[in-house]
Amino acid sequence: MIAPLRTLLQSKGILSQIVVSMSLAALLVVVAVGGVARRYEVERVSEQLSEQANLTVSLLSGLMLEAIIVEDVPVLETGLVEAITRYPKILSIHIENGEGEVIAEAANSSADEAEGYVMYRRPVEFEGFVFGTMVVQWSTEEGREIVLDKVRQTITWTVLAVIAMSLLMLYLVYRLALNPLQIVHARMSNAVAGAKTAHSSLPWYSSREFQALNVSVGVLEDSFAERDEREQALERAREQAEIASRAKSEFLANMSHEIRTPMNGVIGMAEVLRETKLTPDQEMYTDTIVKSGNALLTIINDILNFSKIEAGKLELTQATFNLRTVVEDVVMLLAPKAAEKWVQLTLRYDPDLVEFYDGDAGRIRQIITNVVGNAVKFTSQGSVHIDVTGTLRGEEMDLRISVVDTGIGIPAEKLDRIFHAFEQVDGAATRSFEGTGLGLAISTRLLQLMKGRIHVTSSEGKGSVFTIDITLPTSDRAPVAFLPEQPVAGLHALIVDDLELNRRILGERLRSWGLRVTEAASAMEAMLHLDEMRDATDTCDLLFLDFNMPDCDGYELALRIRGLPNAARVPIIVISSVDPALSQSMLADIGSCHQVLKPVRADQLRVVISQALGGEASGNSRDRSDAGSPKLGKRIKLLMAEDNRTNQVVVTRMLKNENVDITIAANGQEAVEMYLRDEPDLILMDMMMPVMDGLEATEEIRRLESEGDQPHVPIIALTANALQSHEEACLEVGMDDFLSKPIRKQALLETLHKWYDVRADAAPARQVEA
Ligand code: ADP
Repeated sequence: MIAPLRTLLQSKGILSQIVVSMSLAALLVVVAVGGVARRYEVERVSEQLSEQANLTVSLLSGLMLEAIIVEDVPVLETGLVEAITRYPKILSIHIENGEGEVIAEAANSSADEAEGYVMYRRPVEFEGFVFGTMVVQWSTEEGREIVLDKVRQTITWTVLAVIAMSLLMLYLVYRLALNPLQIVHARMSNAVAGAKTAHSSLPWYSSREFQALNVSVGVLEDSFAERDEREQALERAREQAEIASRAKSEFLANMSHEIRTPMNGVIGMAEVLRETKLTPDQEMYTDTIVKSGNALLTIINDILNFSKIEAGKLELTQATFNLRTVVEDVVMLLAPKAAEKWVQLTLRYDPDLVEFYDGDAGRIRQIITNVVGNAVKFTSQGSVHIDVTGTLRGEEMDLRISVVDTGIGIPAEKLDRIFHAFEQVDGAATRSFEGTGLGLAISTRLLQLMKGRIHVTSSEGKGSVFTIDITLPTSDRAPVAFLPEQPVAGLHALIVDDLELNRRILGERLRSWGLRVTEAASAMEAMLHLDEMRDATDTCDLLFLDFNMPDCDGYELALRIRGLPNAARVPIIVISSVDPALSQSMLADIGSCHQVLKPVRADQLRVVISQALGGEASGNSRDRSDAGSPKLGKRIKLLMAEDNRTNQVVVTRMLKNENVDITIAANGQEAVEMYLRDEPDLILMDMMMPVMDGLEATEEIRRLESEGDQPHVPIIALTANALQSHEEACLEVGMDDFLSKPIRKQALLETLHKWYDVRADAAPARQVEA
């Protein structure tokens, strides 16, 4: 009963709620009033009845007294019949004598079926003697009718009164409560929806409470309006800030483009100038121009990078790359700087560690370059050692790259600060090192984007250890042909180096290829080992000699070794940091001798071992990036599409002494025409040119190639824009590589080599980062 009632009330508006409640109340009142009225009427009517009955019975008994005393039955019966006829309420009547015997009786025809009646027994007395009893069955039907009638009337009036009261109540509730409430409610809804209500006052008769509520809603309305205004202002400010931030990024990208283009002229021309005949003074001036130009370029790159990260605009790419070669690239890049100061730069890449990963190789290289670059920059003597290790976790590798230096160190209180932008240990006024103070801030944020981290421990004056932790998914690409081409497993190698770390790194790598390794820390020890081997009739198949050792240099040692009967023909590999350490005649003196330049890349080591074991002519095995100006074997036809006159001159001059025929197209349209006419081996393509830009021209050339079934000509973009999106656009239209402006001679030559070789090898696919 309660539950359905509750749902009924809850689902209705307040008016219906009141109607339902009042109907229920009316019902209760009716039931209560009906009950009370009935009881009251019954009592009243019964009293009247019994009075009437008493009167009638005593009258009858008085009239028939004589006949009762003498028991005159015929007279009595006649009298009784007469009484029944005269008083319709008497249903039956009988008279008992003194002994209780019925002496006369009479009954109404309906006496048997009657439902409502009472029995009256009245003794018939005369002068104190009882002569018998008169028993009367008295009908109460009529009384009941009267009672019901009365009760009905009472209920009808009550109901009417309740309905009238309810209607009045409803009206009052509607006027006094509902109406003001509806007005307040409408006002409130409008305020919430952000609109203001025009007429905001309540009717005059509204109660004080509603007036107060209305005032409160007014206050609320005002504060909502204020809030909306504030929000709109904020939104406008945010939009403006976004526009400003976009403008800032675009401005920086444009500025970087604008600055790079003239810088191209400055650095390029200075590099060309350096190769002409100069007086020592002039040479110094040109060097200064090149150095300052490069420094400026680093700053521009740093600022561009940093502002991009700050603007949340930096996108990471995801591609398979070889981590070992990335770290080796960094080492190769920084080795000359370290060598200048006689600082040892060593790398250990755990030979058991997977090499191929999925990630943003460019950004990872940038981070490692920054940290290792700092280590080299802040170390004036001793060493910088890079150690790459990792632990496999399912499909992912937790990589750790630690960079240990013996440099100036960082005071404990400044350790945290160096990771913030523009923070440097020595203040601006006392600066003795170059730099923007952005490198570590950029690295930290890049690592955050890659869910990695960087931390440092350092002791002032002794050195620092920077640790980069990063988790990368391993790639299923198998490290192809990484074993030396010649079968090397089981061969016995002797490593002679005074530095334990160098021996360890090289030894570890050789062991991973299956060689047996013996280590010697000096020339003397090496000779001893060779003697022992002879005695034990063990062979030595390969000798690695460090060129710079305190007691005896590599050349001397090699000659002494050649004097030993068991080592007269063993291939020797001399490792040096001087280029070239051994002249051709010295190599010939030793015989079967190869030399490699530190730091030695694993691939390079593989090649030189193959050459040494394969009995190839003695010579230099050097990494190309360190080769100065390697000459191209065959004359190549180079098409350069570039509208800027300075850049045309710079590139032409840079390639003056190379085996290259250059044709120049001043825009994309010309480039396409010249491509058809000259069939170049390589194309350098500027991005922004009049008439037809580099992207369109490339698309056109690629289309022509596929139509005419022509071989794929490598197209290298010349970009002044360092934004990632531009590189992606280049790749999309089918370019193969990028050279960013300002163009550096070394980079230009390397790229030409790389793509010329690729073409010669007829390997159509783009090279992976390797
Ligand atoms: P920058 O090298 O351009 O000044 P970084 O953000 O790369 O800026 O480095 C911030 C500062 O941290 C450096 O200026 C230097 O004071 C300190 N620092 C970084 N690496 C080393 C290190 N290996 N040894 C000593 N100090 C370092």
